[in-house]
Amino acid sequence: MVASPPRSDAGTDVETFGNYINDEWRPAASGATMENRNPANRDEVIGHFAASGQEDVEAAIAAADEAYRTWRLSSPITRANILHKAANILESRIPDVGRELTREEGKTLKEGIGETTRAVQILRYFAGEAQQPSGEHYPSANPNTLLYTTREPLGVVAVITPWNFPIAIPAWKIAPALAFGNTVVFKPASNTPLTALRFVEALAEAGLPAGVLNLVTGSASKVGDPLVQDPRVVAISFTGSTETGAELRQTAAKRGAKIQLELGGKNPAIVLADADLEHAVGQVVAGAMMSTGQKCTATSRAIVDRRIADRFTELLADRIGGLKVGDPLAAETQIGPLIDDRAADRVASEVDAAKKTSAELLVGGGRLGGALERGAFVAPTLFTGVEPESRLGQHELFGPVLGVIPVDSMEEAIAVANQVKFGLSASIFTRDLGRALTFAREIEAGIVHVNSETAGAEPQVPFGGMKGSSSYSREQGKASREFFTQVKTVYMDPPPSA
Ligand code: ADP
Repeated sequence: MVASPPRSDAGTDVETFGNYINDEWRPAASGATMENRNPANRDEVIGHFAASGQEDVEAAIAAADEAYRTWRLSSPITRANILHKAANILESRIPDVGRELTREEGKTLKEGIGETTRAVQILRYFAGEAQQPSGEHYPSANPNTLLYTTREPLGVVAVITPWNFPIAIPAWKIAPALAFGNTVVFKPASNTPLTALRFVEALAEAGLPAGVLNLVTGSASKVGDPLVQDPRVVAISFTGSTETGAELRQTAAKRGAKIQLELGGKNPAIVLADADLEHAVGQVVAGAMMSTGQKCTATSRAIVDRRIADRFTELLADRIGGLKVGDPLAAETQIGPLIDDRAADRVASEVDAAKKTSAELLVGGGRLGGALERGAFVAPTLFTGVEPESRLGQHELFGPVLGVIPVDSMEEAIAVANQVKFGLSASIFTRDLGRALTFAREIEAGIVHVNSETAGAEPQVPFGGMKGSSSYSREQGKASREFFTQVKTVYMDPPPSA
């Protein structure tokens, strides 16, 4: 029995963590555990986590199903209070949780702390959102009819999240799901169960009733699969790979579940000749390299006016070549490892393949050894002369790799930018308002930036992509209510007077 999750200051021994089901921390029914290691140093075990299976998923869904009967009827003000309290609890733990996130995921400590802070802000935002109007009053053809809509919760929702934002993404799915009266079974990525658990712990301590939120850790096949197949799970909110998203779309379609998908990107930053190049280079490098390029909104293509392409590429090479790669807990580190060795090998082999094309490698180009040999490190990498149709120009690498594509005009830049299957985020750097407006209108992307990097998501506005990046629905902001509720229209007539 795992009584409650130990805190990071509980000692140096490697701890074992359980699932959270029906307000109880408990091991997998089978007793099986899985190990999680620090991507910056594979000798360091972060913890042992429940390697759950069908029986655990079943228990979590049953708890969520039972809890839904009363949670759906609870006051949104009560829910808001719990979210506020969870925000305060998590806020008091930002230094610890941010550090654990960095140890577990590999992004720099600044980013780990920043992301944990973001999760607190998201909890607060949705505490406020819970108290916003949830319906509309309409005129009726019958003057005596009170005609209105309300938004009601969906039921038991599956939240399935990736490892690259191990606390912000769970927060922006779970907070609105709960705020609007749903109950949740949460399956985090196998690479980041500890951060997921810290988030759930804050909500549990804030006083969520039993069964309203359940955490089940384990593999995609043993936990994710039975979870999305269960008919009691009426909706699925998923962020992850395009391939898994395509599978889940089919599963949901077959059994009529509501589904929300946030998938990949191949995000362009267009740099026009009139741009402030110093500013643009800083933003493009940040967009491409922060979090080691492992953001769905990361910049992977710099589409640059040929007249400034050489100068801009030189600036990029200088900046990227100077990035400090290393232990993400060290204050001077700018770029940490990838999530694991498999990811690092995959990115390195994509880079090797790109070296054999007409693209020219300028900086980086493979895995890093020496002092970094124990971690999943890949050198920040820059290619130029990338063909828009090549694999490097089309395929999401999910690593610290940027390709420069020189173009002759703004029209060509937009055509190249749109010539991929994705449409998540896009940037343009220019001083020309007319061109900025044309770009904002013509670019096929759900999130558009003018003179700022492609990454970044504020909680009060919709987040999501066009084309292959999403399933048309949006997350965060008011859009979250669209997904996590359904509309009821009420015609209320007085009884005929006697
Ligand atoms: P990532 O590279 O972020 O792990 P994935 O799409 O593989 O991308 O995984 C995202 C999340 O979806 C993870 O929590 C993973 O375990 C889960 N997952 C993967 N495949 C399935 C599946 N077939 N059914 C349900 N969940 C899945």
